Amino acid sequence: MNYDYASLLDRAWANLPEELQDHSRFQMPEVDTLIEGNQTIITNFNEIVNALRRKPQHLLTFLSKELAAPATFDDKRAIVQRVLKKSMITKKVEDYAKIFVLCHECGRPDTKITELSGQRIIKCSACGGWWPLRKIK
Ligand SMILES: [Zn+2]
Repeated sequence: MNYDYASLLDRAWANLPEELQDHSRFQMPEVDTLIEGNQTIITNFNEIVNALRRKPQHLLTFLSKELAAPATFDDKRAIVQRVLKKSMITKKVEDYAKIFVLCHECGRPDTKITELSGQRIIKCSACGGWWPLRKIK
């Protein structure tokens, strides 16, 4: 038998109790953008932040660095000072989720930023796994 990685994952997934599967399903809202002049507006930024359960400023700083453009936000929207494709922003939001939200051990989104011996870490409340919080440079 020769399983590829994806089918192995599928099998592992299928073996999880249903309750866990429901709990772990991570629903990220689709990124909605709008170009205005030389700015790109992420119109549902607040929705994305809520789904990721992180501070708006943290995601914004990450996007600003990754997209190499200044960015600001109001209650609902983020404004990036550069014309960008929606797919580009979606990719960066997905990167953010992988680095800062989805558990590096079990892949679930039930994580939070906390501290361990004075070090900032991200800890998973589902499996107890944790990893150091990477600084956004
Ligand atoms: Zn975990």
